[in-house]
Amino acid sequence: MADFKKRTMEYEAVVGLEVHVQLRTRSKAFSRSRCSYGEEPNGATDPVVLGLPGALPVLNREAVLQCIRAGLMFGSQISRITSWDRKNYFYPDSPKNYQITQQARPICVGGTVEIELPGRARNIQGEHRFIRLNRIHLEEDVGKLTHEDGHSLIDFNRAGTPLAEIVTEPDLRSAEEAAACLNSIRMYLAHAEVSPCDMEKGQMRCDVNVSLRPMGSDELGTRVELKNLNSISAVRHAIDQEILRQGRILRANGTILQETRRWDAVRNCSDGMRRKEAVHDYCYFPDPDLPPLRLGEELIQRLRDELPEKPFDRQRRYERCYGLPYTLTSVLCPSRALGDFFEAAVKIYNNPRAIANLVANDLLREIGAVGGCWSELRLSPNDLAELVAAVDRGELSKQSAQDVLAAMCHSGERPAAAMERLGIGGSDIDLEKICREAIGENVRATAEFKGGKVAAINALKGAVMGKTAGRADPPMVDATLRRLLLKNTE
Ligand code: ADP
Ligand code: MG
Repeated sequence: MADFKKRTMEYEAVVGLEVHVQLRTRSKAFSRSRCSYGEEPNGATDPVVLGLPGALPVLNREAVLQCIRAGLMFGSQISRITSWDRKNYFYPDSPKNYQITQQARPICVGGTVEIELPGRARNIQGEHRFIRLNRIHLEEDVGKLTHEDGHSLIDFNRAGTPLAEIVTEPDLRSAEEAAACLNSIRMYLAHAEVSPCDMEKGQMRCDVNVSLRPMGSDELGTRVELKNLNSISAVRHAIDQEILRQGRILRANGTILQETRRWDAVRNCSDGMRRKEAVHDYCYFPDPDLPPLRLGEELIQRLRDELPEKPFDRQRRYERCYGLPYTLTSVLCPSRALGDFFEAAVKIYNNPRAIANLVANDLLREIGAVGGCWSELRLSPNDLAELVAAVDRGELSKQSAQDVLAAMCHSGERPAAAMERLGIGGSDIDLEKICREAIGENVRATAEFKGGKVAAINALKGAVMGKTAGRADPPMVDATLRRLLLKNTE
């Protein structure tokens, strides 16, 4: 790292992202063919997707709405008139020999992405910054080529899937910031249910543009575009390597070629692919099959009203209104489902701190255990609220509440039923009274404990467990006994 800093000190890195996000819609951007993932190759196609002669595209309304939602999450201006263009190129992933995209009048213009840079430690909040967006436009995805044993296979299932292309301004200054920006985009769009943005499934893909300039300069240097980045860690490595590569060239008085390079994650380096094509190479022109679209103010306002709170706003609200620490809000807020669950439980029983602790630690662990599948989780916010209320009434300890919660998640039992089955705590046990009795009946152990033999408390605990037929909550028994014994000593 020190080495990296030294070798790149005289230059500042400038990075801009082009992020492609598959929009969550049932059917494709311009046809009725279903959007699918992981099915038999070429099952989810139709004449439009295959570019058969005479097939005409019809715009999918939901794809437009999803793109508008994306823009509204980032505060973009939504265009009142938007239109479609053909980007012409010749490659087997697109049987029409053009891609329907938006060049002149994208759906969304401007906006900002709030990012959080890594803090000094995992549990410390990092600095927040705003990265400007240039635009978000709607386009269609292309088919997928697989090259093996000297031949190539093509699958058009992905072709025609609606994509939002999110283009940032060159506001990022490091690999770290680019990673933070991708994380934010994913978090915001998942919240709005615009896309799950799972990079492993190719639902979010990204090209990065990198240039260097002398420290202190405000002109932009020649940029290189990097492609084939399939994970956030690939994005980080590719940017760091590119900064080093360009630094080496510039220090040797060389010039940077404006080009597109392909990242090779296995070799951890990039190779030149082609000279960067200029816009005119694609011969963009308005698609004559798709008329421009007018977007009404009412529609935009309705979509704006329906959007969820932005994740970082939610985090600030949890800190302000519930007094929760960063260690909890930073776990609750990136996941809409987790935050919603927490809030629903707090509405029923007002102990935000205890509820947040159980949700951010125990509930999250149980969800992880079922592969993140919320539908398999049999716990309702109401059950969680009841459980925390039982702890507050002294019916079971915080530690035992964790075990009860884990059991409830899988059995779907109410807290009282789970406690009874597990033989933990219960509202019918007057623990204080039973502990008093045990102290009175076990004179010797009591005397020994007070005389400094700490282990003597075990005999008293055993007595209490016996009296309650093992149902008392051991940590609570321990705490209650100690409290009574120490009180008696004073
Ligand atoms: P294209 O569509 O040809 O790739 P754009 O002008 O749309 O070109 O820019 C694409 C991306 O490149 C944007 O994210 C932008 O921020 C970024 N970018 C533009 N100039 C530079 C530069 N000099 N250095 C780094 N990134 C840049
Ligand atoms: Mg580009």
